Amino acid sequence: MTTKLLLTFAICRLIVTVGLTVDPSELLLLGVDGQLSVDPFEVETASLDFGLLTRVEPMAVLHPGSADDIARLVRAAYISSHGFTVSARGHGHSINGQAQTSNGVVIEMSGGSRGSRLGLRKLDKPQVSVKEKHVEVWGGELWIDVLRSTLEHGLAPKSWTDYLYLSVGGTLSNGGISGQAFNHGPQISNVYELDVVTGKGEILTCSEEKNSDLFHAVLGGLGQFGIITRARIALEPAPQRVRWIRVLYSNFSTFTRDQEHLISLHGNPTSRKFDYVEGFVIVDEGLINNWRSSFFSPRNPVKISSIAGNGGVLYCLEITKNYDESTAGTIDQEVEALMKGLNFIPSSVFTTDLPYIDFLDRVHKAELKLRAKGLWEVPHPWLNLFVPKSRMADLDRGVFKGILGNNKTSGPILIYPMNKSKWDQRSSAVTPDEDVFYLVALLRSALDNGEETQSLEHLTNQNHKILRFCDDAGIKVKQYLPHYTTQEEWMDHFGDKWDQFYRRKMEFDPRHLLATGQRIFNPSF
Ligand code: FAD
Repeated sequence: MTTKLLLTFAICRLIVTVGLTVDPSELLLLGVDGQLSVDPFEVETASLDFGLLTRVEPMAVLHPGSADDIARLVRAAYISSHGFTVSARGHGHSINGQAQTSNGVVIEMSGGSRGSRLGLRKLDKPQVSVKEKHVEVWGGELWIDVLRSTLEHGLAPKSWTDYLYLSVGGTLSNGGISGQAFNHGPQISNVYELDVVTGKGEILTCSEEKNSDLFHAVLGGLGQFGIITRARIALEPAPQRVRWIRVLYSNFSTFTRDQEHLISLHGNPTSRKFDYVEGFVIVDEGLINNWRSSFFSPRNPVKISSIAGNGGVLYCLEITKNYDESTAGTIDQEVEALMKGLNFIPSSVFTTDLPYIDFLDRVHKAELKLRAKGLWEVPHPWLNLFVPKSRMADLDRGVFKGILGNNKTSGPILIYPMNKSKWDQRSSAVTPDEDVFYLVALLRSALDNGEETQSLEHLTNQNHKILRFCDDAGIKVKQYLPHYTTQEEWMDHFGDKWDQFYRRKMEFDPRHLLATGQRIFNPSF
């Protein structure tokens, strides 16, 4: 069947099944290379995300064949007298419906269920420039595929997320953070150039030098200013192996002091430092082994429960050192030297060694384990907070030892510091007003197993309590992957940056068509 026929068929289905509010001839005239679909399975897929907390059906789903398809669709929405919304969907790993839209079209940037079958995305394989040390990727590319392509050339991006089955456009719309961020900054600090389809349907190339306002707006911009169709990402020589170490603390201030010391070593590019610094709180040992790999194996010298700390809470510092054949002979000494002066519990050193790709792809192993137990496709009332360093002790008392108490936490709680100097203040991303701030990520899974403390309602209430506690205690947290429902809350979130955010919205998406699932602006039609 020709594309035109398929499109006609899809639009007829749209009119019949969902009561299309757009003049169908507008969509018929698009002439896209890809495919517009109203297949109920595809619409259902686009109406859900990893959070499984909200379900909003789009009118149709576009599998783009090119950036031009996206520009055509957005342009049609922009000039349409009826108007419709357009939301890019990366891999649908948001929590609160950020990539969903009701009165419009979802663009499956990463292929979705049908795109890969159609072979559409093969058009845009990552292009590595070994000389310039960068890679050009399609906006819907998954980071795992970016990594595989760059490793063929012995190169890899510098800054990561813990999980690689996320899209480039999706993480660049937020920040993209992991244990490398203290040193390299978030992923949005490691991008040279973007192609963006604005809310007016224009395709613009932007960078520090060219259309720089759009460039900075889009990075961390929650999809509000345009759809990223291409990104040029910085690369470095890829290490071959990783020495991965976990050590435990029972004292919170000792734990954070060591984390802060380790991230302070970023200043001098030639100084010795770990390549990755993260950490997590252990309130409940069982779930750690589900989510964060079975690292604490029986071969390890101590059982975690035998060194339970102050109030039963332990803190785990997680660090890595990369190396390759040429440095393999000295890795032991190097790690030892870096760990000298850290004040962890001496008997609590857990070490493993693995290929670089296996380390970066570690959460996928947890995913497979959780999937096998039916624990992946469950509601995820996650809460991610950036917390100023000066208030971390208050958070420990009020949240880890207070609100969470002895309850099962229902998922890992990550906690690691970052340097604000590595975040470009011109981007749309928002961070606390201190030189060092922490990510505190409560990555919880709600279970319908009769245990009240694991129910969605209980976990959601706890999230509200935590936010209220921060508010009452004057802890100026910023949500990462933020979720608000009123514009007042968004204004408060952006603070000083709101005026700029609003001005950029008026300039790049004046009809407020894009990413309405973020619930920042209402469409103006
Ligand atoms: P989606 O959820 O599909 O989209 C997110 C938002 O971006 C939506 O508003 C959407 O409209 C917009 N968008 C999507 N594609 C584009 C595009 N091409 N152009 C413009 N806007 C676009 N984050 C971290 O920083 N670090 C982590 O370690 C980390 N680990 C995670 C682990 C898991 C298991 C999960 C589920 C999420 C994790 N995240 C992490 C969060 C992740 O960064 C966000 O979910 C992010 O939105 C990327 O997901 P996605 O590509 O599926 O985007």
